[in-house]
Amino acid sequence: MTRKIVIPFIPGDGIGPEIMVASRLAIDAAIEESSDGSTELVWKELDAGDASFKKSREWLPSETLSAIKEHGIALKGPLTTPVGSGIRSLNVAIRQALDLYANVRPVRYFKGVSSPVREPQKMNMVIFRENTEDVYKGIEWKSGSQEAAAVISLLKNLGASVREDSAVGIKPISEHASKRLVRAAIKYAIRHGLPSVTLVHKGNIMKFTEGAFRDWGYELAKAEFPGQTVIESESASGRLDVRGKVIIKDRIADNMFQQILTRPEEYSVLATPNLNGDYLSDACAAQVGGLGVAPGANIGESVAVFESVHGTAPKYAGRDIANPCSLMLSGAMMLEHLGLDSAASALVRGIEATLAEGIMTQDLARLAHDVSPVGTSVFAVEVIRRLR
Ligand code: NAP
Repeated sequence: MTRKIVIPFIPGDGIGPEIMVASRLAIDAAIEESSDGSTELVWKELDAGDASFKKSREWLPSETLSAIKEHGIALKGPLTTPVGSGIRSLNVAIRQALDLYANVRPVRYFKGVSSPVREPQKMNMVIFRENTEDVYKGIEWKSGSQEAAAVISLLKNLGASVREDSAVGIKPISEHASKRLVRAAIKYAIRHGLPSVTLVHKGNIMKFTEGAFRDWGYELAKAEFPGQTVIESESASGRLDVRGKVIIKDRIADNMFQQILTRPEEYSVLATPNLNGDYLSDACAAQVGGLGVAPGANIGESVAVFESVHGTAPKYAGRDIANPCSLMLSGAMMLEHLGLDSAASALVRGIEATLAEGIMTQDLARLAHDVSPVGTSVFAVEVIRRLR
């Protein structure tokens, strides 16, 4: 009997619908190739973004969120951020409504893709970025406002001196959110047999927020994974047996930006508060050829949404020239999340082989030597031909 899995999907705005069609075709072909008909995906389209607003005057209908909750999963194309609608960002709204607390971004090199560094193949990291706190809370008050004046006066009473004409922002970082993020990162490293988890922070300056993120991370590793992890500083003596264990280490954020360039091979999983992870994941992606080949997922306790990292690239919309790799690779992450590992591997193999043969869309072709670009739909066909 065929196992049917319902996958809700949001096509998205701009280039979203085109890269979604290409990605769904490649994902279905990977399932077919690896399961001999025993598994089938049943795609269920959901409304959100521009198209939804035109249809129902709603940017993010509640039925869309309910369907994602019900099925626990979704594949999502990029969505336009509505200007002047009262919604800060649809993507942020989805993450908050479903409490998708971990933004997971694997970054690796694909042969054939042009890179600004000499040895891009040394980069193979998975970034777990906290998705609900820190600057993402968006707590701030305008310079000169009553609220800013009230906060400045409170700060004065607490012994902090802040210029009267300051705008004020607050970055909360909690034990609960930090620990669940680090827990997810450590579990991922254990499941995939990866050698280390690095806590990236700015705790040398912000001791009680960024520094606490680091301390809670170490505390959690010791309390919940004592037999499977070892702390880097404690293993330095050489007396601890580190074989088969995940090494937990930490790096100050500015140093980490050097490390990704000078010693990328020494890092595998990174766990970061929101802002550090935002900068770092784009910097890592740039080293391997940019956002066009960078997939992403937003994961909570019981729901996961897989999405391309880039936006709607409106100037390429409807032209069949956008790069579908980011969404296809997010689809591969989704297959792995569903336990369909061989389909995920087949899809990644197909993309690897296609790019390695110099078959790529214009964004990558223009950086390579002597490569003529192919369109979105042709790229999908070429990937499907190489799934075996
Ligand atoms: P963007 O859509 O990512 O596009 C910026 C540039 O990146 C494009 O002009 C293009 O560069 C390149 N690009 C991105 N994706 C590409 C692809 N698949 N194939 C080929 N080239 C690609 O960023 P943006 O222009 O800042 O944002 C546009 C809209 O998307 C905004 O409304 C923004 O809020 C939204 N957005 C949504 C998400 C999301 O849904 N997760 C994420 C980011 C932004 P070149 O011009 O150099 O060719």
